[in-house]
Amino acid sequence: MTNYNPQKIEKKWQRQWEKWKLFKTPDKSKKPKFYVLDMFPYPSAEGVHVGHLRGYTFSDLIAKKKTMEGFNCLHPMGWDAFGLPAENFAIKTGVHPAKLTKESITNIKKQLLSAGFGYDWQREICSCQPDYYKWTQWMFLQLYQAGLCYKKEAAVNFCPSCKTVLANEQVIEGKCERCSSLVEKKYFEQWFFKITDYTERLLNDLNRIDWPEKIKIMQRNWIGNSEGTNIKFLISNFQFLIEVFTTRVDTLFGCTYIVIAPEHPIIENLKLKIGNWKEIEKYVEKAKKKTEIERLAEDKEKTGIELKGVKVINPINNQEVPVFVADYVLMEYGTGAIMAVPAHDQRDFIFAKKHNLPIVEVIKPKTGTSPLPERAVEEDKSSSSPSPKRSVFEEDGVLINSGPFSELKSEKAREEITKYLEKRNLGKKTIYYKLRDWLISRQRYWGVPIPIIHCLKCGVVPVPEKDLPVKLPEIKDFKPTGKGESPLAKSKKFVKVKCPKCGALARRETDTLDTFVCSSWYFLRYVDSKNKKEFASKEKIKNWLPVDLYIGGAEHATLHLLYARFFTKFLFDQKLIDYPEPFLKLFNQGIVYRQGAKMSKSKGNVVAPDHIIKKFGADTMRLYELFMGPADQATEWSDKGVIGCYRFLNKIWGLRQKTVDKKQRTENRELERLIHKTIKKVTEDIESFRFNTAVSALMILTNELEKENQLSVISYQLLLKLLAPLAPHLAEELWQKLGNKKSIFLEKWPEYDSKLIREENVTLVIQVNSKVRDKIEVEVDISEEKAKELAISQKKVKNWIEGKEIKKVIFVPGKLINIVI
Ligand SMILES: [Zn+2]
Ligand SMILES: [Zn+2]
Repeated sequence: MTNYNPQKIEKKWQRQWEKWKLFKTPDKSKKPKFYVLDMFPYPSAEGVHVGHLRGYTFSDLIAKKKTMEGFNCLHPMGWDAFGLPAENFAIKTGVHPAKLTKESITNIKKQLLSAGFGYDWQREICSCQPDYYKWTQWMFLQLYQAGLCYKKEAAVNFCPSCKTVLANEQVIEGKCERCSSLVEKKYFEQWFFKITDYTERLLNDLNRIDWPEKIKIMQRNWIGNSEGTNIKFLISNFQFLIEVFTTRVDTLFGCTYIVIAPEHPIIENLKLKIGNWKEIEKYVEKAKKKTEIERLAEDKEKTGIELKGVKVINPINNQEVPVFVADYVLMEYGTGAIMAVPAHDQRDFIFAKKHNLPIVEVIKPKTGTSPLPERAVEEDKSSSSPSPKRSVFEEDGVLINSGPFSELKSEKAREEITKYLEKRNLGKKTIYYKLRDWLISRQRYWGVPIPIIHCLKCGVVPVPEKDLPVKLPEIKDFKPTGKGESPLAKSKKFVKVKCPKCGALARRETDTLDTFVCSSWYFLRYVDSKNKKEFASKEKIKNWLPVDLYIGGAEHATLHLLYARFFTKFLFDQKLIDYPEPFLKLFNQGIVYRQGAKMSKSKGNVVAPDHIIKKFGADTMRLYELFMGPADQATEWSDKGVIGCYRFLNKIWGLRQKTVDKKQRTENRELERLIHKTIKKVTEDIESFRFNTAVSALMILTNELEKENQLSVISYQLLLKLLAPLAPHLAEELWQKLGNKKSIFLEKWPEYDSKLIREENVTLVIQVNSKVRDKIEVEVDISEEKAKELAISQKKVKNWIEGKEIKKVIFVPGKLINIVI
């Protein structure tokens, strides 16, 4: 008997599986389909670490089990190859990103193969290859032709270090998602996708998909809807009006001024009426230079100037109130104007104090008295510091000082006041969303060229489909310019082009597409990755989509996952696909920590799979990835845990010498029951992503089997089949050693005998009027009648019920019976 030598057997089986084309998925099959997808990685020069491999181990396990269960399982892999990480690394090292990306892919592919993952490599895609990005450009043109793509000058997020603009989704707390530099605000002409046309559907359809609730919540918050009222404030002695949006129309009687954004177009209209125009103009100019973060910063004092000579009328009480311009109001949200209620909004309160504006209390708490803001300030002044910061009463309550609406509760008052305004055409119930259009152009080299031509005569002309792909030119100087211009602008050969419409000399668009455009549709390409005429044939799309299970990191909640949903809905509307959601079920694997931190090269806590595979084998690594903790939770990597898994596999290896070739099971009944219970548990645990408990069930079984002197080959084979998706090489090797000629993965997944695993006896709790009076051993499937009969005949129970009428019997099978008297 040889020892377990993973280094020897793993390479052998990887080669054999390839020879057998074991993981190649046919497009046509009588079996039901199952599409399990990993988020495709970007080819980093550092390769992948064991944290990355956790999700891949899950998806591979599920793909292998589903295949054994009789599904035609699609499990592809590819490369999200364009984008900033590769390009930034290229700039740092001076190596061209194309070369770098190619090397990285070769390296990572080797890593994935050595882990024994069963991807169908014939379907491999790479988003930086022209045969792929031709279709990314094609998608852009479809959106353009549908009116969902436009160019406009806009205040954009600009990363001074990456020297490119960023989508809102790529700005995390005011910093660049990639390099953590503070993001600046700049004004550039940029391309946008009109994702906002899909806002409501993106929100509502979340109810149709089986995704983790936290991801749904993140998307809902990102899309963000706030229900409220648009109110018209007429300008005194002028034909214009200013519309404000508020979620608190119940406080309208307390509105003593309104505030508009510096970009509000009404300012220009009021130019002749504004007494302090010069001052206003200066303020507006200054505001334009500030970033959104600076303008909204909580700790900064809110600035603002009154538009002298302009008053608006509060439509609920016809009082004239002043108008301020202040940069903490943003044009992009709501109507770009707000009503201020200093008695019930802390920010308005501070502002009103500073500018000596009236403060009118209009809401009191439902119980008790409200802390009057006036008093709060006085108290803060008099008490010795540090005094607690008092805030005004901002919650819902009961209306006061509100004319006919006084005494109404806030909720009711919002309805009533809105109705009142609607009747007079001075207001309207409204929903505003936070979601903005998706900024898709980048002034960077390593991306998909935007297929647009600018002609002096014809204007913006889309590149005709027959001329796709617009190939990314190989230029030497690919560094970003930082002047709002893409490095592609430096290539005259690329820029100069004939206008497809009039034939005159024209200029190519030099911006490239955000990489998230490439990844918004890649899951469609896998089903037909070699197709030269379409992004994928309709038939194959119909065969394979939607994706049944998508596994990846939770960090993509508002970027990739939102964009992919948008693309899918668009293609659905174009009748190119026949379902409106891309991923039916989503699973986020937990992050792998080491030394208390997320693995990263800079922290020096990375574990490379190559190291583990060399020392213990891929099967041990896979098993540990599954066993280390609950699959959806962050877990600390432990070298000890790895050794434990290695020992377990050695045990299974050693068990073979106990096998005797008996055609019939000879195990004792207890052991046979344990085997079938394990089949049930492993099957169900994998189905519900409880991989760690599936592994421990196999460990328990193995320990029991070890105690036996002899083991029937049938039992051993069952164990190997259960193990096969988890530790494929070992299972395959032992399977062959038992004399089997075909792969273990062509075997059927074991089924358990439900009669065998039934617990024979259970403890039945007997209650009288819900109080426990006795416990008895009964057969697990005892009927209600029988249980009642047994229960009332117990001596302890008799004492309680004798001479009384039984009104009701509550029976919970296998658990308890409650006699109600
Ligand atoms: Zn950056
Ligand atoms: Zn032209």
